[in-house]
Amino acid sequence: MLKLFFDNCDSSLRSPLSKLRNCAFVGDFDLRLLKRAAAPAKPLPTLKDFLETSPPDVEVIVKNRASGPHQSRGYPPLNFFTLNKPELDLHCGICDGTRAFRCTDEYGATLKKEQVLFDELNYECKNCKEAKKFKKRFSLAIVCEGQEGPVQKIGEYPAYSPVISKKVYDLVGQDHRVMFLKERRAELRGLGIGAFAYYRHIVEDQKAVIIEQLEEVAKRLRAPDEYLLLFAKAKTQTEFTRAINEIKDALPSALFVIGHNPLKLLHDLLSDGLHELSDEECLEHARAVRTLLVALADRISEISQDDAKVKEAVGAFLTRKQKSAPSKIIATFALL
Ligand SMILES: [Zn+2]
Repeated sequence: MLKLFFDNCDSSLRSPLSKLRNCAFVGDFDLRLLKRAAAPAKPLPTLKDFLETSPPDVEVIVKNRASGPHQSRGYPPLNFFTLNKPELDLHCGICDGTRAFRCTDEYGATLKKEQVLFDELNYECKNCKEAKKFKKRFSLAIVCEGQEGPVQKIGEYPAYSPVISKKVYDLVGQDHRVMFLKERRAELRGLGIGAFAYYRHIVEDQKAVIIEQLEEVAKRLRAPDEYLLLFAKAKTQTEFTRAINEIKDALPSALFVIGHNPLKLLHDLLSDGLHELSDEECLEHARAVRTLLVALADRISEISQDDAKVKEAVGAFLTRKQKSAPSKIIATFALL
């Protein structure tokens, strides 16, 4: 029976759900062997982790997905597992922030031995007012039974939305919020060409704003005039790669990422054409571009906050000292 399973499916055990779908039957295949072979070395995510962070169409082996074994009261007594309904921390579209969500389903579904259970979980925000609550629905495939095992999202509504820092939207523009989310979903689903294409579009579209923000940082850090001229010239370039090539040597080291100039890295990544790369290479490029944009957004925000703190400190200092020695304060302020 075990040989028939593998003959019908595939020798790879990396995707038990797809194998179960493709097989004519599973019979008395030893699920324990399948789970042991498929289990990753790193700690398994919980069902809560999975529901909160996994995109649809990705199969994940989770722990704490069910309670049991429970014993039925009938004849003969049977053991069964019940799907858990953990409280989740999700983004609420009404409260506009991460809130606790509770499952509104009365009972957890009973998992199916050696079969795939298709089930829905319904959630609502605990923080929303009674009259109108933000709701979330997950459509799931749960493979076989047991507290631990494979689960896959068939879909969710409203659509899966990874948490992305506001700082990133400040850099890539609020207008590109939807496109950035589409890119993240494409990336999480392993769609390399699509993900890389979205990023190229975003940076080309947003190049003037990105360069302006970098220019602002350079000004705050008192860059020499010849560097500021490079930023001004770069803003007139029609292509993002040409623009960042012109300013990459003028970028302040405070914006470097792990000792590397992020603009040089971005330039190298974006200079590769979509048609020259495989889907896998596009995915690597997309991940690298996102990582660099997020790191740049963090650096810009840190420097702006430091700048704001200096201004606040100077303001407080001036207010406190204004009555005592005005001429001395003016001299001190001139030195800052
Ligand atoms: Zn809410």
